[in-house]
Amino acid sequence: MNDSFELDPLAVRAGIERSQFNEHAEALYLTSSFVFDSAAQAAARFSGAEPGNVYSRFTNPTVHVFEQRLAALEGAQRCVATASGMSAILATVMGLLSAGDHVVASRSIFGTTVQLFTKILARFGVETTLVSPTCLEEWRAAVRPETKLLFAETPSNPLTEVCDIAALGAIAHEAEAKLAVDNCFCTPMLQRPLELGADIVIHSATKYLDGQGRVLGGAVLGDTQLLEGVYGFLRTAGPTLSAFNAWVILKGLETLKIRMEAQSQRTLALAHWLEAQPAVARVYYPELPSHPQHALAMRQQKSGGAILAFDVKGGKEAAWRVVDKTRLLSITANLGDTKTTITHPATTTHSRVTAEQRAAAGIGDGLLRVAVGLEAVTDIQADLSRGLG
Ligand SMILES: *Cc1c(COP(=O)(O)O)cnc(C)c1O
Repeated sequence: MNDSFELDPLAVRAGIERSQFNEHAEALYLTSSFVFDSAAQAAARFSGAEPGNVYSRFTNPTVHVFEQRLAALEGAQRCVATASGMSAILATVMGLLSAGDHVVASRSIFGTTVQLFTKILARFGVETTLVSPTCLEEWRAAVRPETKLLFAETPSNPLTEVCDIAALGAIAHEAEAKLAVDNCFCTPMLQRPLELGADIVIHSATKYLDGQGRVLGGAVLGDTQLLEGVYGFLRTAGPTLSAFNAWVILKGLETLKIRMEAQSQRTLALAHWLEAQPAVARVYYPELPSHPQHALAMRQQKSGGAILAFDVKGGKEAAWRVVDKTRLLSITANLGDTKTTITHPATTTHSRVTAEQRAAAGIGDGLLRVAVGLEAVTDIQADLSRGLG
């Protein structure tokens, strides 16, 4: 496990620029535009000859603090904040790809990301090949001369499959393509993809970065030069992060490390407990020695993270009973919150794919996913026990 970086001071302090009032906390600049001292200054700001704010679709001081702080945490040269995780992915592909380009993506990425690639991008002449997250041979075989981007998400949802970031980076670079990693589930507190060989990191800040289920947000991180086109798309097309949401998520970043550590610890304890339950057939969690990619996960992640899945014996009926007997857990597909959530993927997040596709992906009718929050693990166990008995 990688313990070589100290992220605590960065999470609470990076990026602060105080105004003339010398405020201690980060100021919230709710303003759509900025005023200039003169016609000459206005011209210089618009031409870019003089740095400074013009309009909040381009830059905003509160959004800038969020960008600086997340860049420090991910070890990135630059961060571009976006209105949501999906707009971060959209800005990445619009910034980097053109008609005729090809993408290789893990089959186990966020469902809406699959839709974006296969339904929307396809209309603009960008083709995507979906491959197994864990089979490097499939990634290698899918690469073509026109491949410009490899796209991975690790660990995956809901089965916690782990992609080998360093190996995928090598495959991408051999093909002169870029590797983008959606780091939503680990956050920089548990995994830093740029250090492992990725070129771009993507976040849905809606999840752990906020961490309390309040606002939507997203971010793209990487080299300054690589992000120029991403930023260019955002300032032109407009899905930028609002100053208010940036301010809320900044406050989330300050507690990110202790939340990720505490939620991971609870998840590991819950995973061990679930493995010992007679009604549970299998538990999916990267920090369990029984996980097929345990060694890889522990090399590239600081812990297993706060999401696990498990198969209940007895299929859908038994799984639904567990869900319906809970009193504490929230029955919702959302994750990354301090409140623990439970979902039945086959009839919710993965209900749009066919039963055959689900079976091929290993998402059975008895599978449940739990995104563990900050409740006591004994209370979470008691809540699950009622339906497992
Ligand atoms: C939620 C999620 C997204 C999309 O983020 P939004 O903020 O909802 O647009 C992308 N990737 C992953 C892994 C997610 O969980």
